[in-house]
Amino acid sequence: MAPIIRVEHLRKVYRVGHEKVVALNDVDLAIEPGEVCCIVGPSGSGKSTLLNQLAGLEKPTKGHVYIGKHDISTMTENELAKFRQEHLGFIFQSYNLLPSMTAAENVALPLMFKGVGRKERIRLATLELKKMGLGKRANHRPTEMSGGQQQRVGIARAFVAKPKVIFADEPTGNLDSQTTRQVLYRMLQMAKENGTTFVMVTHERELSAVADRVVTIMDGKVESNVLMDAQTKAAAQAEMFKDILEQEVPAEPKTTRPLKSEKKSEKQ
Ligand code: ADP
Ligand code: MG
Repeated sequence: MAPIIRVEHLRKVYRVGHEKVVALNDVDLAIEPGEVCCIVGPSGSGKSTLLNQLAGLEKPTKGHVYIGKHDISTMTENELAKFRQEHLGFIFQSYNLLPSMTAAENVALPLMFKGVGRKERIRLATLELKKMGLGKRANHRPTEMSGGQQQRVGIARAFVAKPKVIFADEPTGNLDSQTTRQVLYRMLQMAKENGTTFVMVTHERELSAVADRVVTIMDGKVESNVLMDAQTKAAAQAEMFKDILEQEVPAEPKTTRPLKSEKKSEKQ
């Protein structure tokens, strides 16, 4: 399959006064459609810089970023803004919700840019909030919610317009470890359900257990790029999401239970 994200000889230099900071130095990378890719590495290594170039939030100094067939590094600001609205989603560490709007109105925003009418926007937004376990919070404002709830609103907003790719920069950075696992679980579930390509920056290496691909950045370069094998991934996720999975299981076997008891009574 052709990669959905392709990076060639990417370089980003920031100028601070007379100083130059080489944040990315000749980065090459390819991410396949539907992959969950984690970008890990120490603080200051260039993770956010890389994500910002991938998501078209900043212009590279040199090199190219392709999303599908589009070279986003040569787009004008207007073209980029339009491309982002049509094809990309974002989840921010600081949630970035508008405080004057309800959860549903916040989630509905990306649909407004797509020209969806208000009633339908709110309906779709409420549906997305339900998937995140926030059906009852649709009319609450962000200030009336916990950090974990706000971030789930942020996730619903990123997914509502079904973008091809979603970028997230340390999306659980402000959450405690229990909430982090819940938020990660929901994000992963949504990404897999929708076939979304998902690129997430994290400095907590253990969170990369959720990834299909783990890219390690060190001093502005790709230090390693590892595809996780299915078995290791499944084991890591079973461990990480143990308590969540245990809570979700009892709802499932409804259809098999009556059959078993029917069989038993037949034998007796
Ligand atoms: P990470 O996300 O891995 O912590 P960043 O990508 O934010 O790292 O930063 C990489 C390097 O680039 C750091 O040395 C940082 O100080 C520098 N840097 C990032 N953004 C800017 C900016 N807007 N202006 C100047 N230097 C920056
Ligand atoms: Mg960062």
